[in-house]
Amino acid sequence: ATMPPLLAAIANAGRHGVLVKSAVVMEQLGTTTRVAFDKTGTLTRGTPELADVRVLPGGELTAEQVLRYAAAAEHPSEHPLAAAIVRAARARRLDLPPVGEFLARPGRGVSARVDGSLVQVGSPAALLDPGSAGDTAREVVDGIQARGHTAVVVLWEHRPVGVLGITDQVREEAEPAVAAVTELTGAAPVLVTGDNQVTAARLASQVGITDVRAELLPDDKVTAVRELQARGQRVAVVGDGINDAPALAAAHTGIAMGGAGSDLTLQTADAIVVRDDLTTIPAVIALSRRARRVVV
Ligand code: ADP
Ligand code: MG
Repeated sequence: ATMPPLLAAIANAGRHGVLVKSAVVMEQLGTTTRVAFDKTGTLTRGTPELADVRVLPGGELTAEQVLRYAAAAEHPSEHPLAAAIVRAARARRLDLPPVGEFLARPGRGVSARVDGSLVQVGSPAALLDPGSAGDTAREVVDGIQARGHTAVVVLWEHRPVGVLGITDQVREEAEPAVAAVTELTGAAPVLVTGDNQVTAARLASQVGITDVRAELLPDDKVTAVRELQARGQRVAVVGDGINDAPALAAAHTGIAMGGAGSDLTLQTADAIVVRDDLTTIPAVIALSRRARRVVV
């Protein structure tokens, strides 16, 4: 007997390196009119590197201490930025003290007790006062972001003591993947990211995206998806992090990057990119279109 077209397409998607979880999903993929990509770990490689440790005046900590506290607090986190901070501390042979009261806040950062002190590590939006324009921490953050790096703020006992600059390389196949998606859906994809506007806009222009939604918390990503859907778009969201899980669930089709994807994200997704290659996404949309033509 010949295999039904959608099942054949699922098998084919598997050969391309995408695990499509059901025939319904396989069929829906081809109706996608807009794709929304996450940034960190999706359009970028997701193996960021620490480029800068800046100490803030008044914090009385050295750069090594700032990095050591930050790495200790980040140690339990599965976020790619956390991994970069821990790797950098290890490379400098800093010993990481054990932590207590670890708390991860998706899209914002982490907090933990290190050597008896409260350490918070995360985004400037989450950790700096909105009214802090012009103060030193904000200036340091602006300088790091102006270079296209991601700024991560370190608080010690609620005081900003340092800012880390982190770089992440764009995946080389991101631009061709975005071009192929644009061609297939007739509209350029959208970038939805928790990172800052400057860094996000720079990356977007490198890959051919103009619609940039930055500084989004996990629920803001859902709102962005719903807005597109309210305008009649059939949205596929591609993401890797736990912060993307709600948006993947809200999308018509949620696609998780399998490589470093969190368990929750993999479970929530309708399809998983197992081969670490973004061009598999336009490939499966095209496969779905072909299968639908046979079915209909
Ligand atoms: P993206 O949407 O680009 O994948 P996230 O939503 O995961 O990014 O994170 C958004 C921002 O929140 C990051 O740019 C960073 O500033 C901050 N952040 C989130 N988690 C962490 C963490 N574990 N350590 C430091 N910063 C974090
Ligand atoms: Mg991400």
